[in-house]
Amino acid sequence: MPELPEVETIRLQLIPEYTGRKLMAFEVREPRLLQNCTPEELKKALEGRCLKEIYRTGKFLIFNFSNRFVVFHLGMSGIFLKDESQSHYPQHIHLVFLFQSGKNLYYQDIRKFGKIWLYKERPQFPNLGIDPFDKKFSLNKFNKLINLKRKNIKLFLMDQSIVAGIGNIYASEILFEAGVSPLRSTDSLINREVKGIYLVIRSVLKKAIERFGTTYSAYRTVDGESGQNQHFLKVYQREGQPCYRCGTPIKKIILGSRSTFFCINCQK
Ligand SMILES: [Zn+2]
Repeated sequence: MPELPEVETIRLQLIPEYTGRKLMAFEVREPRLLQNCTPEELKKALEGRCLKEIYRTGKFLIFNFSNRFVVFHLGMSGIFLKDESQSHYPQHIHLVFLFQSGKNLYYQDIRKFGKIWLYKERPQFPNLGIDPFDKKFSLNKFNKLINLKRKNIKLFLMDQSIVAGIGNIYASEILFEAGVSPLRSTDSLINREVKGIYLVIRSVLKKAIERFGTTYSAYRTVDGESGQNQHFLKVYQREGQPCYRCGTPIKKIILGSRSTFFCINCQK
């Protein structure tokens, strides 16, 4: 599932290619993705408008077509491609954007868990927690959030209503970097540990963005390439392999019905 670094990679690659461009035609091949409008309404709302900006909050990607806002949640397997020939599943290309520049953009979603909304005003996300790259995401703020919710720390990091953008892969990686066990509860963490987690959240996500995200299954960059971060993961999907820090085999457990990977020696 695309998490913050994958969505941000897509955003950064889309901006230079598509912002400032006028949308000439728009095709919806899979109406079930649309959550609050019909294909005709979406088409009518967007055609002829200029794509002014592409921004992100948590795992949501928002296209601002001159005050018509299209919100994407990429679900399990949503990706954007600038070239149809890069798709291995052309039958799963569900949206086609045709820009005046002659450039096209394709949305592919093999599993169809992606969701799309249309708004006439800048959308609000009242149930969404703070984005880790939001200026307001300070240590003080993180401390307050930790103190507010008594919860398992990994599930806390993955709870989109608290901190938005972190999923299963990066929650495991963040806790490894912070040296904190995924079995810990938020109320057991001492100040030093809270600060440690806070500091590595951004660094782990930032490094993953620099490596164009993590490709395990469907995720590809806008160029159709795999991300590179999967080669740098310290614990995720490394069950039984030696910890890079201490050599202890990485342990896998199921936590909140999700696979969780950690080093029992390095993470206390
Ligand atoms: Zn270790």
